[in-house]
Amino acid sequence: MTIEKIETFILKDKLSQSFFFSQWEYSERCICVVKVTTSDGQHGWGEGYGPATVLESGIKFLESTVIGENPLENEVIWNKMYRKTFDFARRGALMASISALDIAIWDLKGKILNLPVSTLLGGAHRDKIQPYATGFYYMDHDNPARDFEKEAKLYLSQGFKAFKMKVGLGIEKDVKYVKLLRELLGPEAKLMVDSNHAYTLREAAELSRKIEKYDIGWFEEPISPEFYEQYNELKSKTTIPIAGGECEYTRFGFNQLIKNKSVDILQPDICASGGLTEAKRIGALASANGIDLIPHTWGTSIGIHVALHFISNIESIPGRMYQPNFLIEYDQTENGLRENLTFPSIVMKDGMLEVPKRPGLGIDVDEDVLRRYAVNKSEIKTSIL
Ligand code: MG
Repeated sequence: MTIEKIETFILKDKLSQSFFFSQWEYSERCICVVKVTTSDGQHGWGEGYGPATVLESGIKFLESTVIGENPLENEVIWNKMYRKTFDFARRGALMASISALDIAIWDLKGKILNLPVSTLLGGAHRDKIQPYATGFYYMDHDNPARDFEKEAKLYLSQGFKAFKMKVGLGIEKDVKYVKLLRELLGPEAKLMVDSNHAYTLREAAELSRKIEKYDIGWFEEPISPEFYEQYNELKSKTTIPIAGGECEYTRFGFNQLIKNKSVDILQPDICASGGLTEAKRIGALASANGIDLIPHTWGTSIGIHVALHFISNIESIPGRMYQPNFLIEYDQTENGLRENLTFPSIVMKDGMLEVPKRPGLGIDVDEDVLRRYAVNKSEIKTSIL
């Protein structure tokens, strides 16, 4: 049995209302999904994080490298894809194309062996993961936090106990909105902030100092991911844990973050940084250096299931009888691809998400829904996440 066919799909969901954060305004979600099929008709699904049309081209470039391979040998296939692209794209969108294919191969491998991906990774240390709600994006340039109260009430009623908001609109506005959200969520809520690398070191240090009193779980991407040493300097200026890594790739990139002591929490996006094969290696690096790892997760329900399996397998170091919950990022912004693309759908129960015990990623794609969201390449003017 070998890999016989690779199909890519660019899926687009037009939003009923656009939203913005420190960098961009989005009016649609556009994601590249890949299906890998074997000679005996079994299939697996993967997803890449990054500009969909670029990722699709990358997957087409890699197609001849993957066709004919044994889907059980994911590390061998990963290495062939890495070698094929090494001279041109050790980081960036081609690595996201590799990630999408690698994830599809893990799903396929699980389905062939009739085992969940968590078992293939070495086993699930936990069968439930606590989601934190990523939301509180901005809708209205005149009154950016207009919907915060409604949103906070909704997430609390759904059972969320941890939340992440966007900052990066300017220090004065940020402080005002962090204060507002802390009041709306109450003192028990875990609250994280994310500037999407909006600030200089000096600005990030100032904002940290001004929001420390609001008990911030972590400050994500405070400064440019290019400045490994400045991240380390910022850590010495604040008591807020510093997180980053969603723009980083492979164990070699994460090794830079680790060697420079840049972050307290590593956040590889499994759908971009090298897939599950490489995430396992990044996890080993994090473990060997005593650094927490909480993946960045965005996109469709395929990506969320990838993260569920991966996080279930992260070892607790140090071990102890009463472990805190491990967290998974659970984006709550409008996205039909997260809600409708796969079955069974994601169910949050008592504030937790279950790690599926079904083979592979534990989901399949509803191909009617896939067709509904799929677009012709010529229709895509811009590719956003
Ligand atoms: Mg982020």
